[in-house]
Amino acid sequence: MKNSFLTEDLVRENIRALKPYSSARNESKVKNALFLDANESPYNTGYNRYPQPVNMELKSAAARMAGFGMDCSNVFAGNGSDEAIDVLVRIFCNPGKDNIVSISPTYGMYKVVAAINDVEYRECRLGEGFSLDGDALLSLTDRSSKIIFLCSPNNPTGNLLERSEVMKVVQNFAGIVVIDEAYIDFSGDEGYAGVLCEYPNVVILRTMSKSRGMAGIRVGFAFASSDIISYMDKVKYPYNLNAVSQELAIKSLARDKMENLREIVNERERMFAELGKTEGVKRVFPGKGNFLLAEVGDPAAMVAFLKSKGVVIRDRSKEPGCEGCVRITVGKRSENDLLLSLLNGGDEQLFADSVRLSRVTRETTINLALYPGRSDIRDIRTGIGFFDHMLELFAHHSGLGMDLCVSGDLEVDGHHTIEDTAIVLGEAVATIYRSRGGYNRYGFVLPMDESRAEVLVDLGGRSGFKWDVSFKDNFTGDFPVQMYPHFFESLASAGKFTLHMNASGSNDHHIAEALFKAFARAMRIALSNDIGEYEMPSSKGLI
Ligand code: PMP
Repeated sequence: MKNSFLTEDLVRENIRALKPYSSARNESKVKNALFLDANESPYNTGYNRYPQPVNMELKSAAARMAGFGMDCSNVFAGNGSDEAIDVLVRIFCNPGKDNIVSISPTYGMYKVVAAINDVEYRECRLGEGFSLDGDALLSLTDRSSKIIFLCSPNNPTGNLLERSEVMKVVQNFAGIVVIDEAYIDFSGDEGYAGVLCEYPNVVILRTMSKSRGMAGIRVGFAFASSDIISYMDKVKYPYNLNAVSQELAIKSLARDKMENLREIVNERERMFAELGKTEGVKRVFPGKGNFLLAEVGDPAAMVAFLKSKGVVIRDRSKEPGCEGCVRITVGKRSENDLLLSLLNGGDEQLFADSVRLSRVTRETTINLALYPGRSDIRDIRTGIGFFDHMLELFAHHSGLGMDLCVSGDLEVDGHHTIEDTAIVLGEAVATIYRSRGGYNRYGFVLPMDESRAEVLVDLGGRSGFKWDVSFKDNFTGDFPVQMYPHFFESLASAGKFTLHMNASGSNDHHIAEALFKAFARAMRIALSNDIGEYEMPSSKGLI
C-alpha cells in the first residue's frame, strides 16, 4: 500500500512533533517475566495486568476481514469506530482554524466530535433520494478543509452513496476522505477498502457493533495507509481497548460467518414491504443497513405510542431532509411482528415483566432474557445442541419465553457452559417470582409417556435438591449425562427454590425430555397465581 507525503503535510504540527506516552508494557516487550514495571497488583484476578496497548493479533484478524492485501500496519483498533473519528479529527484538524466537510443528514458524531475539538463543521445537503452531489460537496471545501466524512450506507437514510460521486470526492480532495462503512455488511456492496492502495488519503471505518453483533464490547476499526495508522496509534490513549474486548473481538473475528446477517437482511426487506402497507406510514425509504427510515404522519405521536407499549424507535424528523421521519432498527422476526402488530392496532406488551441478566466470567459470557407469557419466543444458543433442545422445551412448557446466548469454553468441555447457564437461569427465575405479588409457590407434575418424571418445585426462597434419576449412557446427544443433576442443582441453588426430581424409562433422550418438560410444567404452576392451573380436580360425583 502506498504511503504519501500528502498525509504528513496534513498532520497538525504538534502531532507531528508528538512524542507519544510510552507505556510500561510497550517498553518491556518481554513475554514471560516478573512484571514489576507497571504498578499493577501482583494477585491474579484474571485482569490484574494492563491489556496490550496495540494488539497485533486483533489487528491481523481485522486486516484479514477487510481483505485487499491489508496487514496489521493498515489497521487501527479503537474503542468503537467513534474513537477512530475522534482520533482522526485530533490528528488532522487544528482547533479554531481548520474545518470538516460532511453530508447532511448523516451520523451525528462527526459534528459532535468537530464541536468538541473546536473545528468548524460544514454540511452539504443530500439531494433527491438522499443522493450525493460530489461537486456540491467539494465546492464547500477550501485550504483549511482537512477531512471529509462520508457514510455509506448512510445513517439515518440507509442508502449507499453513488460510487462515482464518492470517487469524484476521493480523487479531487487534497485532504483526508473518511468513508464510514459501519453498515456495509448489510448492503452486499464491496465498499471502498479496495481503493485504499491507490488513494492514500482515504480512511475506511468499520465496526464490530452492527453486523458482528458486538456493540457491547466497543471495538471498531480504521483502515488506512500505515502512515495514518501510526499517527492514530500515537494519539490514542495507551490502553484504549480493554482486555476483555480484545479477547472477544478476536474470538468473533475468527468466525468468518456473520451470524444472523442473512436473517436481518431478509427481515429488512420484509419490513420494508410490510411497513409500506401500514396505516400511518406514508413511505419507507429503501435501506441497505440494518434499519429503515420511514416517513410517517406524526412521528412524535408514533414514537410516544410505541414507547408506551415498551418499544423504542428513533425520531429523526428534526434531521434536515428527514422531516416526518422515524428510524426503525430491524429486529428479530418476533420483534418486528410485534412492532407491526402494534402499528396496526394490536395491544401486546412484550416486555411488561421481562427479566434480563448478563454474566461474564473467564469461562463463559451469558446473556439471558426471559419473557413471561411469551413461550413463542425461543431463541436459544448455548453451543450444545441437545442443551438448546432441552431449554426450548423448558421455554415452551414453562411459558417463559427465552432469549439466551451463551459463549462458553466448549473447547474445554460443556461443564462451565451448562453450570453457568443454570446459575443465570436460576437467578432470572428468582427475579421473576420475587417480583410477583402472589403465586402458587408449589408445583408438582407427573407427565408420562414411555418415560416418566416426577418433579416438585417449591419457590420458598430456600434451595434444596433431591435427585433420583438413572440414565443408561454417558451422553444424550452432545450433553454429558453427568451434568443433568449438576444443572438442576445449580439452578435450584441460584434460584433459591427446592426441587425434587425422579425419573425412569428405557430411553435416555426421553428421560431427559420428561425431566425438562415436567420441571417446566411444575415451574409454570408454581409461578402462576391462578389456582385453577394447580387445583386437583375433585372426584366428587364421579366415583
Ligand atoms: N458510524 C456510524 C454510521 C454509526 O451509525 C455508528 C453507530 N451508530 C458508528 C459509526 C459508531 O459505531 P461504534 O459502535 O463502532 O462506535
